[in-house]
Amino acid sequence: MKAAVVTSDKRVEVKDKTIRPIRSGEALVDVEFCGVCHTDLHVKNADYGDKTGVTLGHEGIGVVREVADDVSSLKVGDRVSIAWFFEGCGHYEYCISGRETLCREVKNAGYTVDGAMAEQCIVTADYAVKVPDGLDPAAASSVTCAGVTTYKAIKEAKIKPGQWIAIYGLGGLGNLALQYAKNVFNAKVIAVDINDSQLELAREMGADMVINPKKDKPEDMMQDKIGGAHAAVVTAVAKSAFNSAIDCVRAGGVVVAVGLPPEAMDLSIPRLVLNGIEVIGSLVGTREDLREAFAFAAEGRVIPKVEKRPIEDINAIFDEMQAGSFTGRMVIDMDL
Ligand code: NAD
Ligand code: ZN
Repeated sequence: MKAAVVTSDKRVEVKDKTIRPIRSGEALVDVEFCGVCHTDLHVKNADYGDKTGVTLGHEGIGVVREVADDVSSLKVGDRVSIAWFFEGCGHYEYCISGRETLCREVKNAGYTVDGAMAEQCIVTADYAVKVPDGLDPAAASSVTCAGVTTYKAIKEAKIKPGQWIAIYGLGGLGNLALQYAKNVFNAKVIAVDINDSQLELAREMGADMVINPKKDKPEDMMQDKIGGAHAAVVTAVAKSAFNSAIDCVRAGGVVVAVGLPPEAMDLSIPRLVLNGIEVIGSLVGTREDLREAFAFAAEGRVIPKVEKRPIEDINAIFDEMQAGSFTGRMVIDMDL
């Protein structure tokens, strides 16, 4: 079967890969769509270690073709997700306390195990979340990482209706963060991005304020106009955005770190302590978070902006992502 595989020279090769037979507890999925996340770009660039040979993809949606004899949670024909949180141990501290994405024995699709940028993918049946009827599968692919990650991050931000939340980075994750913040959590949203086309989309999606840091200083604008945001979610792949987020919130504010630039942020200790600011790292979402994120999308409260592309376009998509030349999400359509 066709699969998008990381090469040693930090590119991706679409090649024929043999899929092994399924084992106990597993299911075989015919992949329909797989969104291209900026994390895939980090993985193929070896930002967190060499991953040569792995099949990318953790925004996968497909239909179950086969299940192992002992599987009761899925049946043939079910539409399911293939997410970054691919499998946890299921029995130690994090898995039994509602924080399963932090499992120390976690497996991640398209990173530690082969992912969904392929015609077929093997999943651990109990960890594949079902896609609700009525949710378009291409849109569902974008919710499988970008949607659930930002939905969970806004939960971590503890934002209340009517409060101000700053979203740094309005790309694949950020445009969904904006929609969850506005349409699910009823917050007021400040969109911050260095790319005007992302800000234009943010405005169309109902952002209450937009700021381009190349023209205005976001922290000054927010402190002057609204007395500081109540919270900030940072999806931007830049240290400067994390530093700005710390300064944009009001006393008692919460900064949720989501973007993964492989570098360190500056953190003023007096600013942190004297203003009681919380800084939280947030990693994707649990299976239950994904079920909730799907349900809001199925209700039409969140509408991912997706464009379908053939798997052969994968290197071009990464180049375009790096250049910031598209808005929303590029989604590999296995039928193209
Ligand atoms: P993307 O490329 O689609 O979007 C990134 C956006 O950030 C772009 O719109 C870009 O213009 C903007 N940006 C860049 N520099 C900026 C700056 N200085 N200030 C404001 N905006 C800036 O990427 P994506 O798919 O949305 O992913 C974003 C990041 O989130 C990546 O690092 C990815 O690895 C990470 N991620 C984390 C999790 C998690 O669980 N924490 C999950 C998925 C993705
Ligand atoms: Zn992702």
